[in-house]
Amino acid sequence: MESNTLPPLAWIYGLGNQKRETVEMVLEHLQKQAKAPIPTGGAVLPKSSFLGGLNINKDACTLCMSCVGGCPEGALLDNLDEPKLSFIEKQCVQCGICVSTCPEQALLLAPRLQTVEGRKQKVELNETKPFHCISCGKVFGTAKMVDLMLVKLGAHGAFAGAALDRLKMCGDCRVVDMVKKEI
Ligand code: SF4
Ligand code: SF4
Repeated sequence: MESNTLPPLAWIYGLGNQKRETVEMVLEHLQKQAKAPIPTGGAVLPKSSFLGGLNINKDACTLCMSCVGGCPEGALLDNLDEPKLSFIEKQCVQCGICVSTCPEQALLLAPRLQTVEGRKQKVELNETKPFHCISCGKVFGTAKMVDLMLVKLGAHGAFAGAALDRLKMCGDCRVVDMVKKEI
């Protein structure tokens, strides 16, 4: 028996079930047909758009990487060798989880349409220097995080006087230092 049901457009154009690849293919097609090029930095889209990037306040960002752990799409990336936050726009669905995860309110959604090439690029959003424990030399955080801790906890009684240096020590050395001073 013949069926009158037409095959889905995805079949006609040889597209698989991968929604992300389909979107990129459609965007590439539209970009090629467009009469004017996409402006540098991308064309601004309405707030509810699922396409877009992120704006970051580099001074506020401590490179804590909470946003990387929160992103369900793998659009935000950590770096194993140095404290660096990277972003791939084509992975981002503008869900806003990273914006609400960030403890420093350093991120804002930027709904926009970039070129297909730009969307594929891994871009660096922020970077800082690693911080080395002043006792054993092990890397245990970033310079920005330690600076922030010194500002926020420096006035606390537990870190008064020489104990302030404990904020510049890794967890192990901090405990050793506390035990030594109590003996
Ligand atoms: S908006 Fe959503 S998908 Fe985009 S980077 Fe943030 S958490 Fe990831
Ligand atoms: S943007 Fe916010 S959550 Fe992401 S690394 Fe920077 S401070 Fe941490």
